[in-house]
Amino acid sequence: MTIQAQILDELRQLREQSGAGIILVTHDLGVVADIADRVVVMYAGRVVEQGTLEELFYDPQHPYTWGLLGSITRVDSDRTLRLPAIAGMPPSLLRPPQGCHFRPRCPHAFAKCKEIPPLRATLPAAPEHVDRCWLDRERKQRLRMVDGRIGLAAEPAVVT
Ligand code: SF4
Repeated sequence: MTIQAQILDELRQLREQSGAGIILVTHDLGVVADIADRVVVMYAGRVVEQGTLEELFYDPQHPYTWGLLGSITRVDSDRTLRLPAIAGMPPSLLRPPQGCHFRPRCPHAFAKCKEIPPLRATLPAAPEHVDRCWLDRERKQRLRMVDGRIGLAAEPAVVT
């Protein structure tokens, strides 16, 4: 952790001195929270969500992003429970699933998900916050809350 913090400091200094942008590829959301201004979430070769750091962490729109956020370990978690994880395995990129690539692992999938969702903005107040999911905003706000925090439900949800 100490070395990681030193490297992130170094990157920040280089960014300020050079004025350049940095693209950092990571699965570590702690690193993302520490250094990123904008975040692009990718799944199986496609961008599934993109927005500012605040948009992604506080108002995530895609179930895969919910799963990533829900998998973060917390010091106040119940230690007798298993750590949350996204069920299933990443798909083969040689034979990806039809439609939404996250469909086989998504507990909220429904018939429309066999079509490829477009990357689009659905929030009028945040036109650059885009995601690739067919669920409407009201359903997303309801489904992303798992045990009082943002996460991905382990069991299939009843989606009407
Ligand atoms: S609800 Fe459908 S479109 Fe949205 S992430 Fe799940 S499978 Fe993909």
